[in-house]
Amino acid sequence: LSPVPSDIEISRAQSPKAVDVLAKEIGLLTDEIEIYGQTKAKVRLSLLERLKDQPDGKYVLVAGITPTPLGEGKSTVTIGLVQALTAHLNINSFACLRQPSQGPTFGVKGGAAGGGYAQVIPMEEALYNRLVPVVKGVRGFSSIQLARLRRLGINKTDPETLTEEEISRFVRLDIDPSTITWQRVVDTNDRFLRKITVGQANTEKGFVRQAQFDIAVASEIMAILALTTSLKDMKERLGKIVVANDKKGEPVTAEDLGVTGALAVLMKDAIKPTLMQTLEGTPVFVHAGPFANIAHGNSSILADKIALKLVGEKGFVVTEAGFGADIGMEKFFNIKCRASGLVPSVVVLVATVRALKMHGGGPSVSAGAPLKKEYTEENLQLVADGCCNLQKQIQITQLFGVPVVVALNVFKTDSPAEVDLVCEIAKQSGAFDAVPCSHWSDGGRGAVKLAQAVEKAANQKSSFKYLYSLELPIAEKIKVIAQKVYGAKDIELSPAAQSQIDRYTRQGFGKLPICMAKTHLSLSHQPERKGVPTGFILPISDVRASIGAGFIYPLVGTMSTMPGLPTRPCFYDIDLDPITEEVKGLF
Ligand code: ADP
Repeated sequence: LSPVPSDIEISRAQSPKAVDVLAKEIGLLTDEIEIYGQTKAKVRLSLLERLKDQPDGKYVLVAGITPTPLGEGKSTVTIGLVQALTAHLNINSFACLRQPSQGPTFGVKGGAAGGGYAQVIPMEEALYNRLVPVVKGVRGFSSIQLARLRRLGINKTDPETLTEEEISRFVRLDIDPSTITWQRVVDTNDRFLRKITVGQANTEKGFVRQAQFDIAVASEIMAILALTTSLKDMKERLGKIVVANDKKGEPVTAEDLGVTGALAVLMKDAIKPTLMQTLEGTPVFVHAGPFANIAHGNSSILADKIALKLVGEKGFVVTEAGFGADIGMEKFFNIKCRASGLVPSVVVLVATVRALKMHGGGPSVSAGAPLKKEYTEENLQLVADGCCNLQKQIQITQLFGVPVVVALNVFKTDSPAEVDLVCEIAKQSGAFDAVPCSHWSDGGRGAVKLAQAVEKAANQKSSFKYLYSLELPIAEKIKVIAQKVYGAKDIELSPAAQSQIDRYTRQGFGKLPICMAKTHLSLSHQPERKGVPTGFILPISDVRASIGAGFIYPLVGTMSTMPGLPTRPCFYDIDLDPITEEVKGLF
């Protein structure tokens, strides 16, 4: 339709097929799905065992140039591409997307990006500095508790035989409260929870301390959910979460707290990917949604693995990495692919004329403000000047040895000359191909040329490689990313960052990959520097670790792990019709 109706109007106008029908179409057996309502189903991991001898399909990553704050359409390209592949070219395909967080959807972003639904994930109860279990009177120890007793040199299996001194050693982890890094989480924006004081009840005398809440997507458990490869692996990772240090400076883990099994129970359904569908009835997995700054910003490995089996050797799985390619894609390759062992075939790099004009020196773009005339009228000079960012992001992709297809997500204000110019420059800059797409207004039909280009690129030999060896010292790994990907001259470590690096290296965590927490609005650390900034020194203010998820995360500037709401949040518009049960106010 023209003009194109709102996302929610389009979504409502289409009746989805029942999810059991969809499941059957894609080859799932009845006992491999758990149906939630009519449009969602969880898929059991047993499928991986049944299909273990089936070859994987082609693995496609959708990344983007440095975006405006409005987003340049990576999710819509992901969906448009699978609709084109499956519904128009008759090639099996699957989209794997992150699950939207309620924070942004109630705050500024409105409806779920890319058509996904928000879904409740079991969320962890953060644990705090004192664990005093009633040891006497319990019937027996768990295997984790037995392991801890053995570590303490107490070789007893019957709780009743422990001496008071042994009980005291067992329950006392001797945590240094100032080092606690495990926070409570909630999946909404609440700026007043950024700093809180806990332990104020009379019964907790002497344990008052400052703490904080994080948004659920910023939790290490969310990153673990996205990176895990099986239930067993998830349990191991949950157990490895470092919650604090003890007074001797040794790490205290979730396993030391004795909560690994309980955490795994909370996550036992969350680990199963959620099957949904696109507007054109093609399958989608919506699964996990880790932050793209302090975590790696990619959907789950398990969803990708299951989808790669389901599409078969000739099929395609299209997944998306958050933020620009310098962040989301770099983490996809160096963190997610390392954890999964999967080898990507093609990168689709999404660009818009709007973002390129911004990089060429156009006025700033902000959510909620109308776009200035530079963005609504033809301006070939701004586009040409801004293509330096596209060129740089293509070069970054090439560092990993994977062919790149540029998808120009066309807006109605783009002129044909602007579109041609971008595609021409992209091809000259080393892209395998560059094609305009109109899937936003035309559905899968508008991405058929993109799908054909991706299919051709996937037949190229991918010589995929990681950017750095895990054997390099932590600071060296940070430097490789800063210089080769961001274009920095050097890095500068604050004293706090240096001492954390020394601590993690001493604690044996030096061989983990790096997950940079940097703004997505510039290749540099300064969001206002557009295009391709050069000559800058990247300041690393702090370095933290998610040991269970399996990465070290340096902070470039300050990062909020609990967003606030804008003055006029989207939730004012959200309502429920009590008669029809229709949710109103999404867009
Ligand atoms: P990203 O995944 O890169 O953040 P999205 O795919 O979520 O971006 O798109 C951001 C917003 O822009 C969405 O509201 C989407 O509907 C809208 N959008 C995307 N492409 C177009 C287009 N070609 N024309 C108009 N609006 C678009």
